[in-house]
Amino acid sequence: MNENEFYERHAAIEQRIGQACERAGRDRGSVQLVAVTKTWPPEIVNLAIADGLRVLGENRVQEGLAKAPLCRSAEWHLIGPLQRNKIRHALSLFTVLHSIDSLQVLEDLARISEETGARPDILLEVNVADEATKHGFTPKGAEDAVRKVLEDGVLRLTGLMTIPPWVPEPEQSRPHLRALRLLRDRLEQMFGISLPELSMGMSSDFETAIEEGATYVRIGSALFGKRVSGAWKPQRTPDSDSYYLQN
Ligand SMILES: *Cc1c(COP(=O)(O)O)cnc(C)c1O
Repeated sequence: MNENEFYERHAAIEQRIGQACERAGRDRGSVQLVAVTKTWPPEIVNLAIADGLRVLGENRVQEGLAKAPLCRSAEWHLIGPLQRNKIRHALSLFTVLHSIDSLQVLEDLARISEETGARPDILLEVNVADEATKHGFTPKGAEDAVRKVLEDGVLRLTGLMTIPPWVPEPEQSRPHLRALRLLRDRLEQMFGISLPELSMGMSSDFETAIEEGATYVRIGSALFGKRVSGAWKPQRTPDSDSYYLQN
């Protein structure tokens, strides 16, 4: 991919986000584009940063930790599952955790956050379609998770995230995207709290997600092109090779 190709893709996505906001009667500023850089090398990531994309999403802790020092300054978000043994490493880089999906991880996060003083934004991943194969809380599980966070009183819970089932037409995601928003509304009422963030919408359905209230859209292939899994492998770690040996 050459630079101009990237700039054109980015401009086209920007335009589509702007149009979706207009249709929904929303401010462009209420939607944050998270550029999903997984599998892409630092050279490509730097191109994106130079073109104004400052919020980047990685789905694996190790890949993010290895890549970030090779890239210009940016805000890194974790959008993939967080394993308990990687929480400390994750907190050294990521400021928003989109995909917290178990009570154990919440418990460990609270303890380690207290120890280290790190206070990332936390979003709970919810499996709104109740697919057996997916990560995420059930809607009822999300309720228990909110209760736990409020009882612990440590973490900054800011919203919900979902990955709807794959469907050929974006319109078919709408019920799932809407279900996440309605669940958010219900949790806000039930607990008397504010959960402003909805992380939903990817390359295939981000416009529908914006119409349904998304505040973060996580876009990879529509910006960077088709991913080749494992295309970029971290060579070394910032301070120790052992991070990657576990993987
Ligand atoms: C890879 C990924 C994305 C981006 O997917 P595209 O379809 O390439 O836009 C979004 N969210 C999560 C959680 C991902 O892992």
